[in-house]
Amino acid sequence: MNEVSDPELLTFSAQVLEKNGALVEQRSDHLLALLPLPLAHLLELPEEVKLGGDELPLLYGSPVLDRLIHLATREVPIVYGQVEVPYLKKAGFEQLIGQHLSFLDGQVHIVSRAEARTSYMVLVCHYVALSDERKEGLVQLGVHEASGAPIPDLKERLSEFRLQFFGPGKVPPHFPVHLEQVFSHALSNARAGIETELSDFLSSMRRRLRRDVRNTREYYEALKTEMEDSLENPNLTDGQRRERGAKIQELPRELTRKIADLEHKYQVQVTITGCGAIRFLVSVVHIMIEIKYRKFQRTAQVTWNPITKRLDPLVCERCQGTIRSAYPREKNSQILLLCPSCSAKS
Ligand SMILES: [Zn+2]
Repeated sequence: MNEVSDPELLTFSAQVLEKNGALVEQRSDHLLALLPLPLAHLLELPEEVKLGGDELPLLYGSPVLDRLIHLATREVPIVYGQVEVPYLKKAGFEQLIGQHLSFLDGQVHIVSRAEARTSYMVLVCHYVALSDERKEGLVQLGVHEASGAPIPDLKERLSEFRLQFFGPGKVPPHFPVHLEQVFSHALSNARAGIETELSDFLSSMRRRLRRDVRNTREYYEALKTEMEDSLENPNLTDGQRRERGAKIQELPRELTRKIADLEHKYQVQVTITGCGAIRFLVSVVHIMIEIKYRKFQRTAQVTWNPITKRLDPLVCERCQGTIRSAYPREKNSQILLLCPSCSAKS
């Protein structure tokens, strides 16, 4: 065992490589692998390679391991299930509109309600924030699949219910097939959650940047004073004096370059990858509402969610942002339900 490998990571790497067509020989402290050409390209490695040695260490944070993790999580594993809910709300939805959802400047009334099955997803995302330091973690996000609206607390509340999983080949056909939009929506919502988790990390990087910039400025100011003082030296030749003068002139540009380097060093890059999802069916109540705005009217569907025991948020019909307060706006004699910022623009 040496410092550049870890038995668990060696086994993990060997499995990922073998699953992708490599021939691997696992030794006590390294791997010898023969990679198919496409895999070698993808991992930026030669076809015949020793992994886990000094040259290509397999440790958390090492580039090769990062590429292997990316390869292993490229396809998000998904499990399917359903949640049996003991109770569906039957009445009193009028009060919830206004409480959980509001429609500003519009009049709303309930047209009908119906029990229905819908699907939700809990997406697990892994994030890595890279700057002068590295920080990583997981966040989980609940999403209503049909609308793409993130559902706060879905993950936490789900643990109060029994989740029954479908085995392979037994998944019912009720789940939406196209998930790209749900995924991209969920990932962008995850980014907001991750930024909150990273707020300490981000402010620590900003603090260190400010400190280093201050120190660098002080250093250059001192240097300038020292060089200017040295110009007073009577033993200097004219040539030497000119040379020093030019150096002093160059100092502000050098300082700007140093500050730009520091800004680059403390820049934070956040990478988010989906690494697993649970999709499940639930019985919900669909409530059809009619919205009147000026001389126009339309219907819209809202969902009472038995897991959170709330009405699910809506999605802005222009920017797809999540909303609990919808602003009806008219466009080509149709009512659109918008978020505050889209409604202000229209
Ligand atoms: Zn919007």
